[in-house]
Amino acid sequence: MSIDNQSEINQQKPEQQELDVSPGTLYLVATPIGNLADITLRAVSVLGQVDIIAAEDTRHSQRLLSHLGIKTRTLAYHEHNEERMTPRLLDDLESGKSIALISDAGTPLISDPGYRLVMRGHDKGIRMVPVPGVCAAIAALSAAGLATDSFTFEGFPPARQGSRLQFFEPLAEQKRTMIFYVSCHRIIDTLKDMQTTFGTDRRVTFARELTKTFETIKRMTLSEVIPWVETDENQRKGEIVVIVEGAGDDTTDRTQVDDYLSILMAELPVKQSVSLVVKLTGENKNDVYKRALELKNA
Ligand code: SAM
Repeated sequence: MSIDNQSEINQQKPEQQELDVSPGTLYLVATPIGNLADITLRAVSVLGQVDIIAAEDTRHSQRLLSHLGIKTRTLAYHEHNEERMTPRLLDDLESGKSIALISDAGTPLISDPGYRLVMRGHDKGIRMVPVPGVCAAIAALSAAGLATDSFTFEGFPPARQGSRLQFFEPLAEQKRTMIFYVSCHRIIDTLKDMQTTFGTDRRVTFARELTKTFETIKRMTLSEVIPWVETDENQRKGEIVVIVEGAGDDTTDRTQVDDYLSILMAELPVKQSVSLVVKLTGENKNDVYKRALELKNA
């Protein structure tokens, strides 16, 4: 950056500009998904200054607002009154009011209401300002131990099994890491349908109750995760993100593992060969062991 540019930016007093709210603007404000400390300074400032906070559930959000000492007027905006409330909020914005949209948790619009308001707001030329923060999908992905260079967010799989299998089917060959929100009531059925579609060896990261007391993050294959969730009823409680690794280039991985195993097993015992191949390739230990036995008995 040139010295000229730098002095221009300094003159703008960014810390002041970042914390002020502007009239006629819709702020999309992320809120915590469990730990109340996970809110940005800017979010607190915006929520305290806007004319109205449109909240998915005003009573639920009141707990956060009271915790933050914020007394801004709240208004309910949820999937059941979205159609009716959207024109009203757009009128308020056009008349110069500033509004913050929040959901019960995380980033609004991400499997939460708001799409209609933002879409129509754009049509009317209303300024949209995201105030970024927590999103369960991204929090889970960052800790998943699966590829992050390319991923898709798939939202909630359908509740009914037939529709769910149809929903997963086109994703079977998807090479990108896939992020799903899963209701705890359907976690076992959903994991079983994932296994039917993606196969027993596909790795998943099970991320439950993120940022809360019973936060659990485990990476396993689908054949490992199902019995684990079945035998531990705590894993069927709370809020869950399931991240599924993309379809690998099986032939390359398999060939590489086979090559290493053949060379090593010619000189070393199976157990030691498997341990070295796991270190060399980062592949799942059980998978490599199974393959070693197959090769040995072939
Ligand atoms: N807008 C939110 C966001 O930014 O993540 C998501 C709202 S969606 C209605 C709720 C789903 O998000 C839950 O069913 C769960 O899949 C996921 N979720 C929310 N909070 C979570 C948490 N603390 N731990 C794990 N998953 C969570």
